[in-house]
Amino acid sequence: MSTLRKITTLTRKLDAFEIELEKRNTRVPKTFHASSYVNCVRQQAYGLLGYTPDEGKTVNPGWKRDAAFGESLHGVIQQRLIDSEMVIQLPNFDYEAATRFLARLAGKLSPAVEVPLNEWVLTPERLEELKRYRLGGRVDGILKGTDKPLVLEIKTVAGKYFSPNYHKYYLDKLYHFESQCQIYLHFLELERAVILVINRDNSSFDEYMVTYDSLFVSRELERLEGSAGQVMRMQLPEPEPSRGPCNFCDWRKQCPASETEKNNGGYKHV
Ligand code: SF4
Repeated sequence: MSTLRKITTLTRKLDAFEIELEKRNTRVPKTFHASSYVNCVRQQAYGLLGYTPDEGKTVNPGWKRDAAFGESLHGVIQQRLIDSEMVIQLPNFDYEAATRFLARLAGKLSPAVEVPLNEWVLTPERLEELKRYRLGGRVDGILKGTDKPLVLEIKTVAGKYFSPNYHKYYLDKLYHFESQCQIYLHFLELERAVILVINRDNSSFDEYMVTYDSLFVSRELERLEGSAGQVMRMQLPEPEPSRGPCNFCDWRKQCPASETEKNNGGYKHV
């Protein structure tokens, strides 16, 4: 007869540890981030201005593990790209030097290693812009082997949701991935980017090509410039509510607009 019985002791301890980790990892961001600048600027300004997140903010241990799992998978794929010499991660485009450097690091790059935007070789004009817009980001790598270098952006997604069947979610994700690449293309002054999407459910890939859209970038940077100025003056920008970001916002209770998003029909740009 089996003596097997289901228990939850270890699970509860792991969940509690995840919540403890979340408390320990709280840090004040210094810049708007390329991965989320198209979201509500007020949400990011709360963080930049050091506002304390809502009391009793829900931490879902499962989501946290999911994110950590995604980051590890990201690191594995990035390592494969480095080992196969398809990608460089150094802040210059000297492929030979990059390859020699990466060979020395082989096996030590875990999990993902990304190069902050301001550590790449940028023109003085672009560096000045980064400061003006108070913008930061981390570039996964530059792909070589084509006539012109391509920005690489790696994303891990929950495959069951990242499908055209989940229309709004899918388009929203793609829009955010593309927006992030547009910023990298602008600052690195390159024409195209590849988004490599990894399905967490079965480790399969999807690829998307992004072409630089100067009009989109100028419009978004103009919007950020105003918000960056307000943050410098210690002011909060106007809320830009939409269902996805508001649902997960750490400042829902403090934000005057958090309730209105419920009736606005969903994601703002699809
Ligand atoms: S609750 Fe919504 S509108 Fe308010 S700061 Fe957060 S994301 Fe922006």
